[in-house]
Amino acid sequence: MALRRGFRKEAREITREVRAELGIDAFAAMDPYALAKLYGIEVVDLSNPCLPAESVRHFTEERPHVFSGALVPLQPSGALIIENHVHHPVRRRSTIAHEMAHVLLEHPFGLTLTDENGCRAGVAEIEEEAAELSGELLIPSDAARAAAFKGWSDRSVAGYFRVSLPMARWRMNVTGARKIAARSWHRWAREHAVSALTAG
Ligand SMILES: [Zn+2]
Repeated sequence: MALRRGFRKEAREITREVRAELGIDAFAAMDPYALAKLYGIEVVDLSNPCLPAESVRHFTEERPHVFSGALVPLQPSGALIIENHVHHPVRRRSTIAHEMAHVLLEHPFGLTLTDENGCRAGVAEIEEEAAELSGELLIPSDAARAAAFKGWSDRSVAGYFRVSLPMARWRMNVTGARKIAARSWHRWAREHAVSALTAG
């Protein structure tokens, strides 16, 4: 499913505002935990004693891959994030950014795949929006472009922004960063070749 029209632009604007609130520019690694704190969202992990030990063991030992995180509404207002602390730190950062994207986009709570209306389309749409915004939050389009101009590899991008390699690769592709950088280099080379000829 395609993202709704104008969503990418909206994600870039939200990211600009959020990064300004956090006091960091586009070309800086973002701390998703600081973002959660800024919005008053507490992050708890599965070692929390309030959680049932049996379920915790299931998600931390038996099948750790099936649970990354969840945004849980609190009464009467607010929310908290439960994250799976046995995952790799880059995955945890991306989980928190994803859940915070749902918060920033004010997505409704409790819309799951087993929604009673079978509203899978709606779910896919909000999940896609959260994925897009969390990617933009972690590696803004402007930062991807700057990294492409510096000639950075996907691995360097992943290391610098503290994300997984697939996430870095996806952001470098989806933002068209390298294509834009390559086009600029070609234009620059062309103009300089022309001026070198005319100067000669
Ligand atoms: Zn989600």
